[in-house]
Amino acid sequence: MGKNQQKNANSELLDQIGAEIVEQNICPDLAKQATNLVMGVGNDNAEIIFIGEAPGKNEDLKGEPFVGAAGKFLDEMLVQIGMDRSQVYITNIVKYRPPNNRDPLPDEKKAFWPYLLRQIAVIKPKVIVTLGRHSMEYFLPDRRITQIHGQPKRINFGGKKLVVLPLYHPAAALYNASLKETLVEDFKSIPKIVELINNQ
Ligand code: URA
Repeated sequence: MGKNQQKNANSELLDQIGAEIVEQNICPDLAKQATNLVMGVGNDNAEIIFIGEAPGKNEDLKGEPFVGAAGKFLDEMLVQIGMDRSQVYITNIVKYRPPNNRDPLPDEKKAFWPYLLRQIAVIKPKVIVTLGRHSMEYFLPDRRITQIHGQPKRINFGGKKLVVLPLYHPAAALYNASLKETLVEDFKSIPKIVELINNQ
């Protein structure tokens, strides 16, 4: 299959995952209050997938992840490594906005986890970048983000080897200068990690 054909096939499969979330009425309380289901944006065939927490107000209104202040910062960091959001895939663990931007509940993360796994299985990224602890804890359980941020970890994922890079959440770093500096530095390691994997 050519690259473009692969892209179209993947985008259909990703649409289907979104349709199933709606049909199966996942997290009905969140769904009732949400304007949009926020599945993901970017390249359906990306080498890098960024996984945040849950949509906020702007994301809910637009139906696209990371379009508010944290998203702008994410875009800036992408530019610093010579990329933009059309080259990577960006999603969240929870696909509906939690009311008043509260943290997603354990049951909500659990309910959406199988769908995130299916998104990953379709896209087949080489690197999973977790943004914040909510997505990190699912890939690297019992670890502390303060201790392992910026350190790529190899994991066995459904029989496949994958690299997970845990990063701080851009929203947490926005108003904290030292966290921001750390995140920007950690982010710069992404191209090197992809290059190392591609040269293996
Ligand atoms: N924060 C997230 O974790 N995800 C978004 O989509 C926006 C803000």
